Amino acid sequence: MLTVMKFGGNTVATAERVSNTASIIRSYSNNNKLIVVVSAIKGITDELISICDSIKRKDEHLTNTILSNIINKHKDIINNLRLQESNREELSSVIDALTNELSSVIKGLLLIKEVTPRSMDYILSFGERFIAPILCYALRDIGVKAEYMSGKDAGIVTDSTYGNAKPLMDTTRLRIRHRLEPMLDNGIIPIVTGFIGVDQYDNITTLGRGGSDYTATIIASCLDADEIILWSDVDGLMTADPKIVKNAQVLREVSYSEAMEMALFGAKYLHPRALEPVLDKGIPIRIRNAFNLEEQGTLIVKNSNAYPNKIVKAVTAIKNMALIDVRGTSMIGSPGTAGKIFSMLGNDGINIVMISQGPSESSISMVVRKSDLDKAVNTLELNLLGKVIKSINVTDDVAIIAVVGSGMRGTKGVAARVFNAVAGQGINVIMIAQGSSELNLAFVVEHAYADDAVKALHDEFELHNINNN
Ligand code: ASP
Ligand code: MG
Repeated sequence: MLTVMKFGGNTVATAERVSNTASIIRSYSNNNKLIVVVSAIKGITDELISICDSIKRKDEHLTNTILSNIINKHKDIINNLRLQESNREELSSVIDALTNELSSVIKGLLLIKEVTPRSMDYILSFGERFIAPILCYALRDIGVKAEYMSGKDAGIVTDSTYGNAKPLMDTTRLRIRHRLEPMLDNGIIPIVTGFIGVDQYDNITTLGRGGSDYTATIIASCLDADEIILWSDVDGLMTADPKIVKNAQVLREVSYSEAMEMALFGAKYLHPRALEPVLDKGIPIRIRNAFNLEEQGTLIVKNSNAYPNKIVKAVTAIKNMALIDVRGTSMIGSPGTAGKIFSMLGNDGINIVMISQGPSESSISMVVRKSDLDKAVNTLELNLLGKVIKSINVTDDVAIIAVVGSGMRGTKGVAARVFNAVAGQGINVIMIAQGSSELNLAFVVEHAYADDAVKALHDEFELHNINNN
């Protein structure tokens, strides 16, 4: 049995948590071959991003403050781990070397006052590169044979799309097999940094936020692993956010495609492409809580027959969104308008989360993250206003409500039930979209009504009793 386990940033955030993680790994290591992927301590990647921002703003003081904060956090963990003297000394010198490397990169960038996407990925890689040796030594300290390495050294080769790199799977497969299999055969557990790869010019790349999940599925696919376990601090994928719905339930099993719909914005964020490497092979993925071992979590499989009577399995609210409505009679019957709008926004790095156009073609509505709104409107105004489009209307403070479940496919009356339930709460629906896969139905409401809409739908589809039969 070969298992690839990924531990999220919360599971290594303190010395106690590192020890907890180490003992979970040890308990699995007896009869299994294991590969461990680890994320940066929760919050560290954000801090490294802040460092890049403060370098760009030429704020040397802030840069150094954040840097020492990051270093201290890791040193505190090492001190509180109470390792045997020789392990502690070795680990400290590894961390000191990394600290020096990071400090000199930052010093250099402060001089030139510039951070390119490439150097940003290099800086971001330190979050994972600090924690992997720490976890490795915590394991050695309790008698587990482990070896730490970066995703680059494990063999993950990517294109050069810094910040959102894609693996080159054939090269990666060859390298990963070559590097990891001998270790596994010798009973060593490789501790691989999540999130990181290397491009063909030997530059460090990152796989996008939340990329450690992706690292785990890439490795699992390359080695034909039997299973993947994603450890974090949530019980699994749920019927709704338990902060909104008190009696939300953990889903025992969902399909890959349902998981992709749910996880993007649910309590357990999954990297959007994380399932891609395992789709063909059908490697099962389990989401588990490292702090609640009693709970079996959610199993994600290729095809799921669980919950045959449930049309809908989850309701999620995606908050902090903004709606942009563009209008113009010259859009009617003129091919390429939508293409122009979308590629314009795409080129500026703005992600369109939801789209809708009526058959009259006189307007297109798009939902973007609120943080992208300013830039999106700016781009549209600069390039298209007065040409293809006549007016731009913006509603900020909206939320997308998404209803997910493969049981909706071909089932009549689902939309009617959804909109009746929402109307019953006096909530106005601003925009609607359903993909033809019928796996999800999404609509937009004012932010203030988002929670009520989720509650009403959770009740309507009786999701509180989903595990009862
Ligand atoms: N540390 C990276 C991030 O925060 C990758 C990950 O956590 O999966 O996005
Ligand atoms: Mg993370």
